[in-house]
Amino acid sequence: MESVDPLLLDPRHPRRVVVVGGGYAGLTFAVTLANRMRATDGIEIVLVDPRPYQQALSELDLVAAGTARPQFAELWYADVLRGLPIKVVHDRLEQVLPDLNVIRVGPRGESGTTIPYWRLVIATGAIPTIPPVPGLADRAITMWSVDDALKLQHAIEAQFRYAVTLTDPAALRRALAVTVVGGGATGVEIIGTIAKRLPPMIRRAGHDPSELTMTLIEARPDILYDLPEVQRERARKRLEKLGVRLQLGRKLVAVDETTAHLEGGVDVPSPVLVWCGGAHADPDAISWQLMCDVSGRLVCDPTLKATGTDAIYAVGDVAAFRDPKDSRVLPMLAQFAIREAEHAADSVLGEARGVAPKPFVPNMHGEFVSVGPGWGVGWMFGINVSGWFAIVMKRITYIMYWIQVGSFRLAWKRTVQMLRLRR
Ligand SMILES: Cc1cc2nc3c(=O)[nH]c(=O)nc-3n(C[C@H](O)[C@H](O)[C@H](O)COP(=O)(O)OP(=O)(O)OC[C@H]3O[C@@H](n4cnc5c(N)ncnc54)[C@H](O)[C@@H]3O)c2cc1C
Repeated sequence: MESVDPLLLDPRHPRRVVVVGGGYAGLTFAVTLANRMRATDGIEIVLVDPRPYQQALSELDLVAAGTARPQFAELWYADVLRGLPIKVVHDRLEQVLPDLNVIRVGPRGESGTTIPYWRLVIATGAIPTIPPVPGLADRAITMWSVDDALKLQHAIEAQFRYAVTLTDPAALRRALAVTVVGGGATGVEIIGTIAKRLPPMIRRAGHDPSELTMTLIEARPDILYDLPEVQRERARKRLEKLGVRLQLGRKLVAVDETTAHLEGGVDVPSPVLVWCGGAHADPDAISWQLMCDVSGRLVCDPTLKATGTDAIYAVGDVAAFRDPKDSRVLPMLAQFAIREAEHAADSVLGEARGVAPKPFVPNMHGEFVSVGPGWGVGWMFGINVSGWFAIVMKRITYIMYWIQVGSFRLAWKRTVQMLRLRR
């Protein structure tokens, strides 16, 4: 890996492949292509991302409630890409000019520096969606970055220190509360981790964990809709056992300094409120002269090329790829981002060798959701799994990713770090 100034890139390079976004999709694409290409393919790979590291978002649950140091969810490019022929430009994509085969990178609204490409791979991901619920944007802590996870750690710590000084039992109960909104996998993982971490802290401060109020709010009648009913029920029971109250089937209508207000006049004490209510594609994507769907994701053809282009691929959360089996757009999941990126890398390599790209066929072999750090639910190869085994399988997916983008060395180093985490 070499960090370069975009101005130093040779504008005449015939086969420059520019990958924008170094998350699950972009990093997998760059590493797969670098490992599979030969010098005779004449390909130069340039990865563009403002950050010096990938944020491994699916590992954030370990950071969010203080289980792991925040750096655990950071994969530094210098470490991961060591020895690979990949140039890294630390900048942001500002403009795509498909007719000229160039992108411009630089600060928002400025014309920036031009980088010509032979193939462009857009993998700029998504950001949290915050609906216009009064007070929500000001109060909500989102969960989409290491900074968000740190913010949550600090908010919980500060609130906890304040609450345990209160002497009035009713005030204490209102102050000693954490709410997560969103009963999808992210929300369940975050509240589960919090529910496991907070009671020991409360005991240490001389209080009873029963004084703590932890709530998971979901507007739909149930949580974890992607999982079979039997797994949803197991997850609900597990959360209740951990002391989490489930507020299902009521929409959030307003948030103030201390309380989340739900439909039907239900109030939930929420001095700390985490929003895990959904995400939408990188909002800049609609300005890149490419076809977007109503949610702002870049529409792809069956080979993952951005519709109407020959030289641009879109992969990961920013891409709207329709599964040919049921015509539904693939959900925003790391496992699809990784599979799409591998396929696009093979397609680009094939194109360099005169082979036309093949259609992408998505397959999902399993899904695991942690409910607290040491227990989970999910399925693999059509079989439901739960308990510690689901967690082992979830962690194995992390290790497989580390091997794929890094090496056995990286995977070993991070596995040791993971095993040392407090459970
Ligand atoms: C808390 C949490 C838990 C999750 N858990 C799971 C899980 O257990 N399993 C699972 O399959 N999925 C999980 N997901 C979803 C998964 O993380 C995403 O689907 C995945 O990150 C998508 O990968 P991506 O490469 O498309 O985007 P990202 O990983 O978000 O990467 C996008 C990259 O693009 C860069 N970028 C953005 N804009 C620009 C620009 N203009 N110019 C240059 N670079 C730019 C960003 O800096 C970033 O590095 C979770 C998500 C969250 C938030």
